[in-house]
Amino acid sequence: MTSSSSSSQLPADNKVVMFVKRPGENNPPTVDCFDVIPIDSPSESDITSEQCIVRILFLSVDPAQRCRMNTSTGVDYLGPYEIGEPVDGMEGVGIVERAGSASTLQVGDLVTGCIRLWTWTKYFVVDSTDLVKVNLPSTFSPSVILSCAGLSGITALLGIRKKAKIDRTRPQTIVVSGAAGSCGSLAGQIARIEGCTTIIGICGSDEKCKVLKEEFGFDAAINYKTEIISGRLDRLAPDGVDIYWDNVGGRVSDEVIEMMNPNSRIVLCGQIAVYNTDLPYPPPLPDHTVQILKERNIERERYLVLTYKDEMDEAIAQLSEWLQQDRIKVKETIYDGLASAPHAFVDMMTGKNIGKMLIRP
Ligand code: NDP
Repeated sequence: MTSSSSSSQLPADNKVVMFVKRPGENNPPTVDCFDVIPIDSPSESDITSEQCIVRILFLSVDPAQRCRMNTSTGVDYLGPYEIGEPVDGMEGVGIVERAGSASTLQVGDLVTGCIRLWTWTKYFVVDSTDLVKVNLPSTFSPSVILSCAGLSGITALLGIRKKAKIDRTRPQTIVVSGAAGSCGSLAGQIARIEGCTTIIGICGSDEKCKVLKEEFGFDAAINYKTEIISGRLDRLAPDGVDIYWDNVGGRVSDEVIEMMNPNSRIVLCGQIAVYNTDLPYPPPLPDHTVQILKERNIERERYLVLTYKDEMDEAIAQLSEWLQQDRIKVKETIYDGLASAPHAFVDMMTGKNIGKMLIRP
């Protein structure tokens, strides 16, 4: 192996998060499903000329990891975690610490990438071609690559553009569930930019409702844990709901669908309310909801951001522009240290995050 870097050793205090226990399909995940153990840091002799060693700055915590805790994920694009194997996640951002001689990357480059999964560790070995170099204005934290210009933001932007079908010729009301989370908070803001006139968010606490209105610019917010959604929507959206961004499914979604207009659209982004169950994805709906969808001709197609791989670069450019123009705001909930990674995942699944849940290893 030849390297463009100095031959000094990387710090020895590396750790990795291991998957040690399946929660069971019908149970919530718990921190003891994971273990965090010390490991050696990789050294230059561990990389080929095309590889790099990356020091991870931030790791993304995603609901999609829940299905990987089951023996079968139910989706063809993600395999299950194996007991005793390291946990990996959808995305990360880091700094190149060592670069093989044939790598196009340089030591010190800020890199990200979602072509490959990111091991939940501090230093990891990766093919340079799986990484993308990022030029970030110095006023931004590298974390915005995950909280805005990464999969969450791309999901929000392409979901709105491909599935929401906003009619700019007339007033449009959108309801977003999971609204104070990563995709939801961006979807609501992007819906406004793209022409929706009334943005209503649904989330799980009064604190989140306040953030939606005061920081993300939503017109109104509903706490699904304490309020009757249909009653609030009756007053907040007297002309009915034109678009529903569905991150959660279950009772929340059934109540929103009751209030939807004929020929309206659902962006079926996720169904987190049933991820701790053995129901298939998307889960079956109650008969009454099925009847409403049919009678009112409501579109409800499955939406998967990975379908649009070819459009991701353009989406990232758009999100970066809006972020720099201050047209979209992001919030992050950051857990420090890999020892906190199991808590970050469990807490994201139970709604402790506002905006994007991240780990700083
Ligand atoms: P979030 O940042 O939104 O975090 C998850 C949130 O879900 C929690 O903060 C919690 O907020 C809410 N939640 C948890 N359990 C429930 C429940 N039982 N009922 C209602 N809300 C619940 O995560 P992401 O933004 O990363 O993901 C949001 C959704 O988007 C998920 O369903 C995910 O699977 C999906 N997704 C889909 C993609 C696609 O391509 N279609 C790509 C990426 C994500 P609260 O306090 O409000 O309960």
